[in-house]
This record gives sequence, C-alpha cells and structure tokens, in this order.
Amino acid sequence: MSNKYLELTVPGVRGLHPYQPGKPISELEREYGVSDIVKLASNENPTGPGPLVRQAIERTLDDLARYPDANGFALKGALARRHGVPAECITLGNGSNDVLVLLAEAFLQPGLEAVHSQFAFAVYPLAIQAAGAAARVAPALSWEEPQPLGHDLTAMGGMVGEKTRLVFIANPNNPTGTWIDGESLENFVSSMPDDTLVVIDEAYSEYVEDPTYPDCVSWVERYPNLIVTRTFSKAFGLAGLRIGYAVSHPGIADILNRLRQPFNVNTVAQEAAVAALADEHYLTSSVRMNNSERVRLTDAFTALELRQVPSVCNFVLVDFDRPAGSVYEALLRKSVIVRPVANYGLPDCLRISIGTPDENERLISALTEVLTESGG
Ligand SMILES: *Cc1c(COP(=O)(O)O)cnc(C)c1O
Repeated sequence: MSNKYLELTVPGVRGLHPYQPGKPISELEREYGVSDIVKLASNENPTGPGPLVRQAIERTLDDLARYPDANGFALKGALARRHGVPAECITLGNGSNDVLVLLAEAFLQPGLEAVHSQFAFAVYPLAIQAAGAAARVAPALSWEEPQPLGHDLTAMGGMVGEKTRLVFIANPNNPTGTWIDGESLENFVSSMPDDTLVVIDEAYSEYVEDPTYPDCVSWVERYPNLIVTRTFSKAFGLAGLRIGYAVSHPGIADILNRLRQPFNVNTVAQEAAVAALADEHYLTSSVRMNNSERVRLTDAFTALELRQVPSVCNFVLVDFDRPAGSVYEALLRKSVIVRPVANYGLPDCLRISIGTPDENERLISALTEVLTESGG
C-alpha cells in the first residue's frame, strides 16, 4: 500500500514494518473455518492463570473506575522483596516490551547506535529504528556451535564503539532458545564502557535449570550500566494483561519514570502480578510441565529427523531444511498455529511453543501427517 503520510513521519518511523505476532485463534477460525484450535505460536503459558491470580483479578473489579496506582507501590514492593533490591531500582512496564522501548527512547537518537545479535528478539531492531538510531547486528553463532544461532558475545563486543549507547542481550534468546552462562556474560558486562548500557532481557529465565545460568538481577548493584528486564507474560501466564519490569540503577529507573506514561500498567495487571508472585506452586508446576513436555516435543522432532536448536525455553526452533511456509500453512489447515520466523531471517524454520500434553500430541500428529503427505 502506498501511503502518502509516510513522507510526513520522522526518519526513524519511515522504515518501520509492523511487528508480526502469532496468528490469533479467532483469526484462524474466521479465515479457515476450523475449530478446536491449538495455538503454539506466541510462547504463552498453556495452563492459564492460577486460582490465586483469578481471585485477585475478581477483587479488582470494584476499583476499575479509578486510575491505577501510577507508582505501582504494592507490586514494586513485592518485586523488591523477591529480588532483594530497593524498590527505586524497579520500573514497571506494559509488558517488558514497554520498558525496552522506553530505554531506546531515552538513550537513542539519530547518530547513536545500539548493538544486538542476529536472530535476536524482533522488538530490539524495532525500538532502535523507531528512535532513529542505527542497529549494529552481530552475526550469530553457527549451527555447529553448542548454542546454535545463539549470541556471539565476542562479535557483539567488537561492534561496540563510541556511539553505542545500548546493547541488547536476550538470555535466553527468542526465537532460538539459546542461552549464555554466567561467567561469559559477566565478562562481557564488565568489559563494557560506562556510557554503554547493557540490557539483559530475561523473559524466559524462570524455565532455565542449568546451575551456570546467571540471575543477572543480582548484578545490578555491581554494574550501574546494567539493566535487567523480566516479564509476567511467559512462565507466570499473564501475557494478556501486559506486565513486565526492569531492574536497574535508581538513576536509570528515574529516567524511565519521567518518560513512561503515568498509568502505563493497569490495575488488573498490578494486582494479578502481586498474586502471581505469591503463588510459587503455580510457577514451579508450570515450569515442571514445560520442561518435561519439551522433551516430548524434541524427541518427536528428532524422530521426524528434523534439526532443532537445543532450547531451555517454552518453545523450540525447528529447521525444515526448505522454506517452511508450506508446513506452516498445512498445520493451519489442521487447526494448529505455530510461528513462522522468516522475518527473523530464518525462512526454513518454524518456532513451536510448548503446550499442554494434549496440545503437544496434537502438534506431533499434525506435523507427522504433514511431513508424510508432502513426501518427507
Ligand atoms: C516474550 C518476550 C518478551 C516479553 O514481552 P512482554 O512485552 O513482557 O509480553 C521480552 N523479550 C523476549 C525475548 C520475549 O520473547
């Protein structure tokens, strides 16, 4: 579509393309006339919110005529206790996406640069570009490495220069499911100049069980140029409410606090997040189910002779060794939604989120049929 208003936009906005979300269930119903749909496309928690969260949400109904608490007092307090940091280190966001964009708005402009890896989370290039800054993209590790397609910290470090204000690291990364150990990551963070802020995005941290995986929130005290982001959208199961946060030096939190919308996190999200933090049982059982179901899926992909990136997350990146669009379409016709990743530069791959045992069985039989029908 030609759009004459593009000429009127500021330079960073002119080249933007919309974020491509996973196909919503209602859209597949409308377009294909299918029902009983399995959506494994957006790395959502398949179990839905737990009982404590549901009760907390009910209780907020009486408050909905009022504006939310703009300072998120109760939630920041709960997060401060959880992480052992002062509440003034915390910035709440409308999803952690909000915080990532605020960081780009606050610290980038035309003439400045931000570094991220190839095949990193798609929001980084969007936020950098919208701020009018230049993205320096470090080549990812090769398929032959222990973390295939993961971040190459040496390559990333090599791209940091005088104009670099932000470095985005997803640990673990989406869409690859790869991760970085504590020693390598801390060496990287400590090597960064003071005026280069390192953003470590820990959206999937709750799923990682390896003892060498770091909790970078505990490093914020040591590295004032480190910002760690977390979300309630994945293991906590609250993607639809939009709630995430950053932990940083209070000086950085102060800047984000000036820039953010005063009521960027709604009342329901704040109350639900407080309840979610109190429900350790929900979190542990979500993670346990995910990590055992991940074995079911990866074993099935291996049996189908598909190459895959070893994942520590709630999704797996699978390589079909040919353009994967036809597999995606064929799965849609069987009421299964997965995620194409051609927009990440991975046209032969699909990203498949881990669902409930039933959903995963449906995916495995649909995929087996599709691959058999198409002659392997
Ligand atoms: C899902 C995801 C997020 C979180 O998004 P929200 O805005 O908090 O829902 C952040 N980073 C990565 C790498 C993700 O995959």
